[in-house]
Amino acid sequence: MSRFIPLSIPNFEGNERKYVDDALDQGWVSTGGAYITQLEEKLAAFLHTEKVAAVQSGTSALHLALIECGVQPGDMVIVPTLTFIAAVNPVRYQFAEPVFMDCDDSLCMDPAKLRRFCENECELQGDKLIHRASGKWVKALIVVHVFGNMADMETIMTIADEFHLKVVEDATEALGTRYTKGRYAGKYAGTIGDFGAYSFNGNKIITTGGGGAVTSRDAEKVEHMKYLSTQAKDDPHFYIHNEVGYNYRMTNLQAALGVAQMEELPEFIERKHRNYALYQELFKDFSKGKLLPFRDGTASNQWFYSLELDMDQFQGKTMRKLITALQEDGVQTRAIWGLIHEQLPYRDAVAFEMEKAPYYSSCILNIPCSTQLTEDDIRYTVDQLRKVTGI
Ligand SMILES: *Cc1c(COP(=O)(O)O)cnc(C)c1O
Repeated sequence: MSRFIPLSIPNFEGNERKYVDDALDQGWVSTGGAYITQLEEKLAAFLHTEKVAAVQSGTSALHLALIECGVQPGDMVIVPTLTFIAAVNPVRYQFAEPVFMDCDDSLCMDPAKLRRFCENECELQGDKLIHRASGKWVKALIVVHVFGNMADMETIMTIADEFHLKVVEDATEALGTRYTKGRYAGKYAGTIGDFGAYSFNGNKIITTGGGGAVTSRDAEKVEHMKYLSTQAKDDPHFYIHNEVGYNYRMTNLQAALGVAQMEELPEFIERKHRNYALYQELFKDFSKGKLLPFRDGTASNQWFYSLELDMDQFQGKTMRKLITALQEDGVQTRAIWGLIHEQLPYRDAVAFEMEKAPYYSSCILNIPCSTQLTEDDIRYTVDQLRKVTGI
């Protein structure tokens, strides 16, 4: 069969070629140039935030945010276990220790367990939350908006305030997701906590090839992260550096792509919604699993679609076999991530009351979600899923 429906591919239907050519013509290809500032301004306007710094990747955005939180060697940072490992590795770049938290049915961090950990395993000494067993200072929390679904920020922010935790939002999958109701109505993922990180990797809702951005409620902190991302240069002419910086700045070539992609973001989100709605319709009577919803009271970017499969019904057919069978029929899918607290570099870290993450890690299948999907592609995908899962 020659048909192939990819899981998630970039879409360059707009001004991408025009702007990249323009950057090439100008000779501005590196970490200076007008497209970088233009992208930062577009992102800030879109997110209703004061300042944004464009960087090399979502990972570097998260790293800069942790530095700005003051996370230092020996500190602890609470992180989810059910996520992409890039959300956790920056904790170790700072020689700090992750504490792994379970998810709830939204696939995002479970706030009830977060509270239990802070109340039962830690104690407040003045403004410092100290982990009793290790004596370490729990300084920050990284919350991931998994697949574009907003984490329960109302509850999480209340807990963070109470226990003096800095909040870094990993919004790498959630550009465009926002609250429509409640305390944060109108607020975008990444602009609620102290810091927000975005990614423009090839599979994300917009892409610059590789790239990312970071924001903060405090515009001065964004300025400082920008400074750190450009080797902490204090004097551009005489090369004076007063801090250890990084080569984390986005290039103008990447930003040229980014400016074109930002022009299309609303259209991309609209298509994600249309495609999700059709899947929902077609899976209505599917008895072997269900399409996971997005949080009530939010407008999600609906970046990735998750099918929760009832694995008991597959008579020993493993997830790997399902994925291979679908691949043979020309439908590319993927399993959700392996849990991070079980990965080799993190097995000695604290993992708190794991229960739902192991379950979801075994039964979530991500199905094609590119913005180019046609109605026919979606119908074909659902037909193949029905065939492969035996109905
Ligand atoms: C993509 C992603 C990142 C990292 O972004 P990069 O730009 O690839 O460095 C971090 N966290 C999560 C949850 C992601 O999906």
